[in-house]
Amino acid sequence: MIAYVNGQFLPEEEASVSVFDRGFLFADAVYEVTAIINGKLVDFEHHMARLQRSCAELQLSFPYDLAELKQIHLQLVQQNNIEEGLVYLQLTRGNAKQRNFLYPDKQTKPTLVLFAQKMKIVENEKSKYGIKVVTVDDIRWQRCDIKTVALLAASMAKEYAKQQGADDAIFVKNGYVTEGSSSNCFIINHQNQIQTRGLNNEILPGITRQAILQLAREQGIDIVEKPFSIDEMLEAKEVFITSATTLVWPVIMANNQLIGEGKPGKLAIRLREIYLQKLK
Ligand code: PMP
Repeated sequence: MIAYVNGQFLPEEEASVSVFDRGFLFADAVYEVTAIINGKLVDFEHHMARLQRSCAELQLSFPYDLAELKQIHLQLVQQNNIEEGLVYLQLTRGNAKQRNFLYPDKQTKPTLVLFAQKMKIVENEKSKYGIKVVTVDDIRWQRCDIKTVALLAASMAKEYAKQQGADDAIFVKNGYVTEGSSSNCFIINHQNQIQTRGLNNEILPGITRQAILQLAREQGIDIVEKPFSIDEMLEAKEVFITSATTLVWPVIMANNQLIGEGKPGKLAIRLREIYLQKLK
C-alpha cells in the first residue's frame, strides 16, 4: 500500500510521523474519510469543506490548495488500484518537539497523512440484510461537531456492541439518540416523516446525512430535525444509519427488539438506491 506523508508518496512500511506529533500525544488532529465508488471520489468537495471548518474551530492552519488535495486523493486511488473503498486524510497540529499542552508557535508545520484502502461498499451484506444495534451512554465531549481523531469513546462503544452480539452502537444522551458511533441515525416515524436530530455541537454534521436529506426532499418526503427517544426508535416504522462508507444501512433490531417486522425498511433501501444511482 502506498501512503502519503507531508508531500511524499511512500510504501506503508516507510510512512511514519514523529513520536512528538500532537496528533499522537494530544489527539490534536482532524480527519476525513471519503468513499471511492467506481474509482471516483464521493462528495469530495463537501468533505474538504467540513475539514476546513474543523480546522477553523481548532485554530489549526490549513495551508493547502483543494485542487492539490484532490490530486493526492486521486493519486492514492490510482496507485493503490482502488475501484471501491476509501481515502483517509488526517491533519495534525504537527510536531510539538516537546510535550506542552499549549499550541506550538505558528511556524510549526502541520502533519498531513493520507492513505487509501479497499472496502466493499455497494454490495455490502449489511446494507442488504440490515444491522443490529445497542444503545450506549454518549460519554463523548461537547464538541462532537468537530471531526477530531479523539475516537476512544466511539471505539469503546463499538467494542461493547460487539460483545453484546450487535453490529454497532447508538449513542444516547438524556434518553435521546444523538447519533451512531460512526454514523448519523434516522427513524421513519408514524407520521411517515424522516426524523433525525438537528445539527449542533452534539453530533457530527455528516456529509451523507446532508446528501440523503437532500434526496429525501427531492422525493417529497417530509423531514423533521428533532431528537427521538430510545422508545421512539424501538417503535419507529424504520431505523437507518448513514456514513461515507456505509452510505445507508437499515437497522433491523435495537436493544434486542425488532424494528417493525425486523426487515430492512423500504424507504431506507429506496434512499440508498437513489443515492447510488446519483453516484454512477
Ligand atoms: N457521526 C460520527 C460520530 C461519525 O464518526 C461519522 C463518520 N465519520 C458520521 C456521523 C457520518 O459522517 P459522514 O456521513 O460524513 O461519513
